[in-house]
Amino acid sequence: MPAKSVNDIVALCKRRGFIFTGSEIYGGLGGAYDYGPYGVELMRNIRNAWWNSMIYARNDIEGLDAALISNRLMWKYSGHEGSFSDPLVECKKCGARMRQDKMKDPTKCDNCGSTEITEPRAYQLMMGLSIGAMADGAINAYLRPETATTTYVNFKNVLDSKPHKLPFGIAQIGKAFRNEISPRGFVFRMREFEQAEMQYFVNPADDEKYFEYWKKTRLAWWTDKLGIPAEKLRFLPHVKLAHYAKAAVDIEYAFPDGFDEVEGVHNRQDFDLGSHTKAQNEFKLSAKVLENKDSTTKLSYSDAQSGENFIPYVIETAMGVNRAMLAVMIESYDEEDLGDGKSRTVLKLKPWLSPVKAAVIPLVRNVPEIVDLSNKIVDELRNLGIGKIELENSGNIGKNYRRHDEIGTPVCVTVDHQTLEDGTVTIRYRDSMEQERIKTNEVAKKLLEIVKQ
Ligand code: ATP
Repeated sequence: MPAKSVNDIVALCKRRGFIFTGSEIYGGLGGAYDYGPYGVELMRNIRNAWWNSMIYARNDIEGLDAALISNRLMWKYSGHEGSFSDPLVECKKCGARMRQDKMKDPTKCDNCGSTEITEPRAYQLMMGLSIGAMADGAINAYLRPETATTTYVNFKNVLDSKPHKLPFGIAQIGKAFRNEISPRGFVFRMREFEQAEMQYFVNPADDEKYFEYWKKTRLAWWTDKLGIPAEKLRFLPHVKLAHYAKAAVDIEYAFPDGFDEVEGVHNRQDFDLGSHTKAQNEFKLSAKVLENKDSTTKLSYSDAQSGENFIPYVIETAMGVNRAMLAVMIESYDEEDLGDGKSRTVLKLKPWLSPVKAAVIPLVRNVPEIVDLSNKIVDELRNLGIGKIELENSGNIGKNYRRHDEIGTPVCVTVDHQTLEDGTVTIRYRDSMEQERIKTNEVAKKLLEIVKQ
């Protein structure tokens, strides 16, 4: 059974070192979280699962890692400076501030139920920066609120350095910052978060085909790579589209409190490259864009066959990595009744997502031969290059199993006196709790098979 409440995950995250409140010892800071020893591993494994599917498994997508701080003009022409705002309302009674579009009932305060609510006003979501000695506190740059725009402005750089025919994509994973009015839901809505976004550049005639293709491909990734059952995911098409979008759909996961967005797939037409290109008048743009007098580069594509020079359309896939990790933890969380009043908490993660791939436990710690052999097995498993392998030399075996169940370690390998006699170790499987003795020299092969699952 998956977690019944996000609170189960919050408690596990703190107890076992996945996620801590940001600036905790100074009272915290709303919307900022720190990822601990196992959280960083799980995040890294999710990122890798995405990067492997987007880049390594294909010929048509390149990677990029753009700066987090960017020239103000970029956000002027992307439309973020002018309109990246949420409708903010305030409760006159309790002072709570809320996003009107996310309220349970827009006529009543979410916090105290009062109907005395102010008129909505636009609230700038980007975090402004004052960069350089001459800035004097004035905003002259922004932290990026998404990775996508920094991809569009690099369209020509990537294409010139690595030629591609349409369709092709550029993918980025990185931090984004939004001055969210009300961060909530643990890491669901934060002010500093991480996105994995891919912009797929297509011939305008092919946009609908690739929009459908990416919807299907991304949904399949959530089930195949993250292990989320298909019935816990759904598409929610946007009814009210942004002015530049031709179609948009959210991929939603069934969180304990209901379905909510984890990823978006959008047909953005030629809005983005069209907004940032030089010489906009040379192109027949479908989207309405702000006149750009500052760009120094044409962001167009020349079709060698037709001789046409045009602005490609963009199909975007935009995933929140933190939300993906939250969904994965909720889904793999289980509290098992073991009978006799005993129970265990276990994270039944897909092994390639597990923060620790295997724990090696010397059963007796004052016998140097057992400790040496354990270290040798650890070294051999580390050489596989599959991730974190832990040597457990504290606590008793029961406590070690419990800890590794809770962080989702797929196997524990125990070395004991018998190992010295017959060269076998005990391997214990997380999900079934079954144990078997296998030859020490078979452990690496076995682990490789398991982490592929
Ligand atoms: P929302 O409607 O929830 O504010 P959005 O539609 O603005 O999200 P996008 O701009 O499409 O989101 O960003 C893509 C993904 O980034 C989202 O699907 C989500 O997983 C993640 N994301 C967006 N905002 C946040 C946030 N404040 N905290 C954590 N993840 C976020």
